[in-house]
Amino acid sequence: MSGPAVISPDQARFGDEAEVVIVGAGACGLCAALAARDGQADVLVIERDAVPRGTTAMSIGLIPAANTRFQRDRGINDSVELFAGDILKRNNGQTDIDRVHHIVRESAPTIEWLVDKHAIPLSLQNELYAGHSLYRMHGTIGCTGGEVMDALYDASKKAGVRFALETVVDSLFADSNGRIAGVRVTSEGQQRDIACGALILASSGFAANREMVTKHIPAMAKAGAYCHHGAQGDAVRWGEGLGAALGDITAYQSHGGLMVDRPVSVPWAHILRGGIQVNATGKRFSDETSNYAERALDILAQPGGFAWSIYDQQIEDNLAKYVPYVDFLKVGLVLSADSADELCAITGLPPALKDTLREVQDAAAGKSKDPLGRTFRDTKPLTAPFKAVKVTGSLYHTQGGLEVDAQGRVLKADRSPFPNLFAGGGAARGISGAGCAGYLAGNGLLTASVYGRLAGTAAAAQTLTSA
Ligand SMILES: Cc1cc2nc3c(=O)[nH]c(=O)nc-3n(C[C@H](O)[C@H](O)[C@H](O)COP(=O)(O)OP(=O)(O)OC[C@H]3O[C@@H](n4cnc5c(N)ncnc54)[C@H](O)[C@@H]3O)c2cc1C
Repeated sequence: MSGPAVISPDQARFGDEAEVVIVGAGACGLCAALAARDGQADVLVIERDAVPRGTTAMSIGLIPAANTRFQRDRGINDSVELFAGDILKRNNGQTDIDRVHHIVRESAPTIEWLVDKHAIPLSLQNELYAGHSLYRMHGTIGCTGGEVMDALYDASKKAGVRFALETVVDSLFADSNGRIAGVRVTSEGQQRDIACGALILASSGFAANREMVTKHIPAMAKAGAYCHHGAQGDAVRWGEGLGAALGDITAYQSHGGLMVDRPVSVPWAHILRGGIQVNATGKRFSDETSNYAERALDILAQPGGFAWSIYDQQIEDNLAKYVPYVDFLKVGLVLSADSADELCAITGLPPALKDTLREVQDAAAGKSKDPLGRTFRDTKPLTAPFKAVKVTGSLYHTQGGLEVDAQGRVLKADRSPFPNLFAGGGAARGISGAGCAGYLAGNGLLTASVYGRLAGTAAAAQTLTSA
């Protein structure tokens, strides 16, 4: 980060301009770009990386939506009320309830717009994440955020979006009313100023900024971070400089499947399909499915701060559809054992692991109740050959940030909107409440894609009416 957050416009030397400038080319930025181009605006996306990837490409790219035609085609009868109810149940209503309904209402139009208008290859996936009443995750065949990003980037170029890559936005030019005149950027070591009619901040959260994580989310200060290096908290820094309202700044998603000593994460489907996690004593320590986003804290509280994920061949066969999983299978990151004894030997876990396995097999077969209260729904008892991966808890992404209104306009501390400043995705306040317990799987890409579309539409409309 270089330069002040906000500079007076009279110090700018604008050499380039665009009606709508977007900072960040992740899911939010590219959805915003497509929507703004649909609205006939001239759009420039500024991205620090050479190729647009962002946190989005690290994700498995699953976007939840309610009452899409893909659900109806499969006979799934979802509704705004049901999905909003699931989100609010997870966060105990500790969020803006009207905003949740608004975002959920816009979720199906967003998915269908991405597929129908911009050929993003999303379809309904067969993963039932904890807390979701129905199947509503939409993703690509390979279940990778990388595929989503490739498709969004192709569609954006096709739609005539301009890109300034390997270019970092340092500062915003804003007058005393908070009207944004443009941005100061650095590329190839040179600073230059770009004027805009409207600015959309799609620069993600602050998971990669240790100082901010330590300040706002101390529970994750020492955890591993499996996040994108671009998540430096620039939107929050600019917002603070402008006097913007911030919300739920302590919100985040953690994950309990980061491999120890490796920057790779085991898809959570290994747990959803019947896998378990044990600590160094060979015992389970809580219901693995109870809260996906809080799992990291459970694991970090175990002796040594790690757990072993244990699953079996039939679960691994299912994981084969996740491209990143196949990649780490190739390099031997998953241990395999033909019996419970061998599993103890290769993991170094005590024989108590065999009792744990028996207990879980009985619960999954319906012979007994799981002592930790887990319901083994749609899963089969674990059988040899067993698979084992040593994992720990990590921070994935943050969910707090700039307060925005229904169109994605950034709000001032007095709750009035800035004239021409928008935000979405990780840059804006999410819908998960504070902390991590309220994160329902999919809240990240849901708000990135929906707010991207809404902000892009509103920004284009605004610049065209003011032209
Ligand atoms: C491993 C993992 C798995 C996940 N799985 C899911 C999932 O399945 N479903 C789900 O809903 N969510 C998931 N999430 C969360 C989800 O990925 C994020 O919520 C979402 O990608 C955020 O999108 P975004 O567009 O706001 O940010 P990003 O995709 O991070 O894009 C922001 C972009 O802005 C750029 N940028 C930042 N600052 C600047 C600057 N100053 N100048 C220029 N460029 C800048 C960055 O380089 C980056 O490319 C997952 C996250 C992780 C880490």
